[in-house]
Amino acid sequence: MVTDPSCIFCKVIAGELPSSRIYEDDRTIAFMDINPGSHGHALVIPRSHATDLHSIDADDLAAVTATAQKVAGLAVEHLGADGVNLLNCAGADAWQTVFHFHMHVIPRYAGQPEKDPLVLPWQPAPGDPDRIAQAAAAYRGEGADA
Ligand code: AMP
Ligand code: ZN
Repeated sequence: MVTDPSCIFCKVIAGELPSSRIYEDDRTIAFMDINPGSHGHALVIPRSHATDLHSIDADDLAAVTATAQKVAGLAVEHLGADGVNLLNCAGADAWQTVFHFHMHVIPRYAGQPEKDPLVLPWQPAPGDPDRIAQAAAAYRGEGADA
């Protein structure tokens, strides 16, 4: 079990910072986000410190995902959510602000802006097929992206 004494989520795990816990097991803890994007916004973290998506142990990632699935189900069953978004931010440029891996569980509510003021953060529009194919090739290691 890895712990970083300077990490705020490791302090939450140790009970050195307060949290509103909603679920825990041997690998994960779920607790309420103190700056909720919607009603019931929760976070799921591994007990073992890992900075982000790129460094988390695969078994811990699987455990976090399973807990996020449970919490999402509870959001529907107990909070009356109409849908749920799971979100992970990997890196400061992807909005990560706390560098202990976490999955956001964000309940969504249809037609209730006081509980759910969220909007899609991009405008869906058809992309340039050549640029899409270029990115796919770069993923496959078949050429540099630009
Ligand atoms: P991210 O921007 O993806 O790194 O998300 C970090 C989240 O952690 C934010 O939504 C914060 O509101 C939340 N957060 C920060 N400190 C605490 C804390 N002590 N307890 C609960 N949530 C926190
Ligand atoms: Zn940590």
